Amino acid sequence: MTQIRHVYGPVCSRRLGRSLGIDLVPYKICSYDCIYCQLGRTTNLTLERREYVPIAAVLEELRAQLAAVPAPDYITLAGSGEPTLNSGLGQLIEGIRELTEIPLAVLTNGSLLWMPEVRAELIKADLVVPSLDAGDEALFHHVNRPHPSLSFATMIDGLVKFRREFSGRIWLEIFLLGGVTGILYEVDKIAALVDRMQPDRVQLNTVARPPAEEYAFAVNREKLHSFSKRFSVPTDVVSEGVQDRIVSLSAPQEGELLTLLSRRPCPLSEIAAGLGRAPNEVLKLLEKMMQQKLIAAIFKNGRYFYQTVRS
Ligand code: SF4
Repeated sequence: MTQIRHVYGPVCSRRLGRSLGIDLVPYKICSYDCIYCQLGRTTNLTLERREYVPIAAVLEELRAQLAAVPAPDYITLAGSGEPTLNSGLGQLIEGIRELTEIPLAVLTNGSLLWMPEVRAELIKADLVVPSLDAGDEALFHHVNRPHPSLSFATMIDGLVKFRREFSGRIWLEIFLLGGVTGILYEVDKIAALVDRMQPDRVQLNTVARPPAEEYAFAVNREKLHSFSKRFSVPTDVVSEGVQDRIVSLSAPQEGELLTLLSRRPCPLSEIAAGLGRAPNEVLKLLEKMMQQKLIAAIFKNGRYFYQTVRS
């Protein structure tokens, strides 16, 4: 039986290079249920902070993985949901700091930053990448479908307070949707909020993988580039390009492929880059595992994405 681990990768991240990921919540526990989520619909919509995965075991796994793979560019806390829901977050960050000097990034939807303890726990990270996908309460509910107790004002207040307290880098990710938030009037509302938050960078993103709801559409790249000029801080359009770096000529193993694809559907180029393997070797294994019905391929936006078959 394949053991699903809490530490995965390194995977090739569009923003962070080779990133060793740590999954802090199981599939799919989140404070949001975003219509564009590449993981599918949220099955446990919650604000309850708990030690969803045991921190001591995560640190053990991380120690072993760091010894086994070439040094990644980042260690990244993420999850099959919202990582700050894990109440052991602060303990984990302290533990990683004692273990290594590799930069530490946290990808979060930012919904819990109104909690003083969450802001305090994140203080020792190098980079925090929170999200902001809407400029008002109505679109916040439409796009992010948050837990009923979360208001837009509370979420914004948390982001503003975090900026005041955190001296590391903040890259604010804004995920725009065609015909919804990907229109100038809505982008300008978000840009006004960015003025209040003053992140170090803004990163504009859009649908590139199969979304939770079919009515979540991408914004074309030209539009994203024109929207990027509306922000008062440096703004990037997050590229789909990946760096193909082959670091091992050995054949990939079923377990590492399942671990990677259990997080999100990926195209062949990303799998190969993430695992540091030759694409033809990865393709052979993909074909074998598709025959075994362990994974499936879906065609979207002109490319095949591979994902695990969930029972
Ligand atoms: S996109 Fe992120 S915040 Fe939104 S539902 Fe998915 S995991 Fe949660």
